[in-house]
Amino acid sequence: MSDQIIKYWEEQLPVFDKIKALGFNRYINTLPDFSRAFMLKDNCLRCIDEGTPGGIRLAGSGILLSENEAISVLKNAGVDGIYSHEECGAAKLYAKENNLDPNQADKYGQDWAKKLAKKFNIGYKGFLKITEMARPSGFHIARVAYYDGTGKFNPDEVKGLPSGFVISRRYLNREYALKEMGIAISIALSDHGFGELITPAEPFFLVPIGDLNDSKMSLEELTKELQPLTEKYQKRVIIDGFAATI
Ligand SMILES: [Zn+2]
Repeated sequence: MSDQIIKYWEEQLPVFDKIKALGFNRYINTLPDFSRAFMLKDNCLRCIDEGTPGGIRLAGSGILLSENEAISVLKNAGVDGIYSHEECGAAKLYAKENNLDPNQADKYGQDWAKKLAKKFNIGYKGFLKITEMARPSGFHIARVAYYDGTGKFNPDEVKGLPSGFVISRRYLNREYALKEMGIAISIALSDHGFGELITPAEPFFLVPIGDLNDSKMSLEELTKELQPLTEKYQKRVIIDGFAATI
């Protein structure tokens, strides 16, 4: 593992020491800007990748869904523009699942986002290059995956909230949302993520964000549905969420 990666890991340790001591729910109350976490600047669709913050989030901007399934999510979430991005793990997975060339994954990601935007009659907002993204090339720095029952969450708006994958659970069915969470975990624990640095003492956090106004998206429900995903990782992956009013 390179020195650069160790540096990204070490930089985050003080925040995770606090989160481990307090739990997420108490930790967020120590952050003065926390209410900004629920003020999306736009409703554009982006990837769950921690490097593409903001808006509504779907792995590869929905490339793993059928066109009809994706359109239904877009309607439901009121999406008004679509981005694609460089080094997309979901586009690579799409290539593998469809026996296509994984080296062309970024092109498939772009083609998909353009096609979906056209079909739904909204703007294609462009291809985010790795140099414009909020993570280094070739590497994921996320120690957290947020499972967002509110559909409004953006950790990058709040100083002190760790960077992480965001899954817009509110607009997805349970089975597909869990598939996306599985992808986030497997990236984080692979050699494209912190991998073996993640241990029971320094775990990867699944963070359900419950909506206090919606019993179907409650913290309890979301925590329960994530539980089976953690079992095989023997405490290297833990669940620690919070509930919000928005
Ligand atoms: Zn992506």
